[in-house]
Amino acid sequence: MENIDWSNIGFGYRKTDYNVRCTYKDGKWGELRKSTDENINLHMAATCLHYGQEVFEGLKAFKGKDGKIRVFRMDENAKRMQKSCEGIMMATLPIEKFEEAVKMVVKLNERFVPPYESGASLYIRPLMIGTSAQVGVKPASEYEFILFVTPVGPYFKGGFQTTPFVIMRQYDRAAPLGTGTFKVGGNYAASLIAGNHALEMGYSAVFYLDAKEKKYIDECGAANFFGIKNNTYVTPDSTSILPSITNKSLMTLAEDMGLKVERRHVPIEELSEFEEAGACGTAAVISPIERIDDFDTKKSYVFSPDGKPGKWCEKLYIKLRGIQYGDEEDKYGWITVID
Ligand SMILES: *Cc1c(COP(=O)(O)O)cnc(C)c1O
Repeated sequence: MENIDWSNIGFGYRKTDYNVRCTYKDGKWGELRKSTDENINLHMAATCLHYGQEVFEGLKAFKGKDGKIRVFRMDENAKRMQKSCEGIMMATLPIEKFEEAVKMVVKLNERFVPPYESGASLYIRPLMIGTSAQVGVKPASEYEFILFVTPVGPYFKGGFQTTPFVIMRQYDRAAPLGTGTFKVGGNYAASLIAGNHALEMGYSAVFYLDAKEKKYIDECGAANFFGIKNNTYVTPDSTSILPSITNKSLMTLAEDMGLKVERRHVPIEELSEFEEAGACGTAAVISPIERIDDFDTKKSYVFSPDGKPGKWCEKLYIKLRGIQYGDEEDKYGWITVID
C-alpha cells in the first residue's frame, strides 16, 4: 500500500504506476496495452488539437471494509462515452473493451486505492482522442483510448458539507452540450472562465440557466442539480444537461425511500420553495447547497440557514456511499467487484 495521507488528499492528479491504452487504426481496435509513460506522443496535426475530437469520462473505485475493490456502474460510463463519440464522429469503443480496461487499470494500480476509513476513492479517467493528421475539418481515422487513475478526496471543499453556489447570466453553457454531446473537451474549456469567476467570489460553482430563455436551472460545471420539497425529489429535464449517472442513481434511491421523483423544468423562482438542494456527480457525490445567489438580480435562495446538510441529502448520501463501499446491499447490480 502506498504511503499517502489518504484522509487529506484533495481532488487532483497524482502519479500512479500504470495507465492502459488501446489504439484504433485501419478501422479496428487493437489489444489493450499497459504503459508507465505519463506522456502521449502526438502528431501536431492531430484532430484532437485542432477540432477538439476529444471525449472523457469519470468513474470511481472504492475499497470496502472487507478489503474488496468495487467499481460503480461502469457500463453506464461506457455507454455514455459511446454517445459522446458518436456526437463528434469519433470511433466508438465496445462496452466490453471499456469494462475490461477499467478492471485492468484498477488491478494494476491496486496499491493506490485509498483505504475504507479514509473516505477517499480511486478516480478513473478514461479519455479518447483523434490522433491522425488532418488539416481540413474532418474526423480522424485513428484514435487513442487511454485510461488513467488517481486517488482523490472531496471535489468541493470539505466533502459532505454545505457550500454556496451562484447564478450568473453573463455565462452561457457551451453550445455543443445542447446537442446531445457530453463530456467533450471544448465544452469544459468554455466553462473555465465562469468557474473561475465564481471561485474568486467564494462560490463553489456557477449554476447555468437554460441557454434559450434563461428561465430554468440547468446544472453547474461538473454536477447536476436536485431540490427537495414536499417529499419530492425534483431535478431539471433539459437537453443541455449531462445525463449524470449519480443523479440517475439518486432518483432510484429516492423513490425507494418513498420520495416522489420529478424530472421537469425548474424555474429559478421555484428555488425559493425547496427545503433542501444539492449538486451531484461522481466527483461531487452529493454536495449539499447552502444557498444559491442570483448575481444579476441580487436575490438569494437559502436552503440551509444553519449550514447543515438537510435530512434527505444526508439519507441519500449515506445510502449511495454505502452501496459504493459495499456496506449496503447492491440490490440493483450497480457494483463490479475487481478481483
Ligand atoms: C460528469 C458530469 C456530471 C456528473 O455525472 P456523473 O455521471 O454523475 O459523474 C454532471 N454534469 C457535468 C457537466 C459533468 O461533466
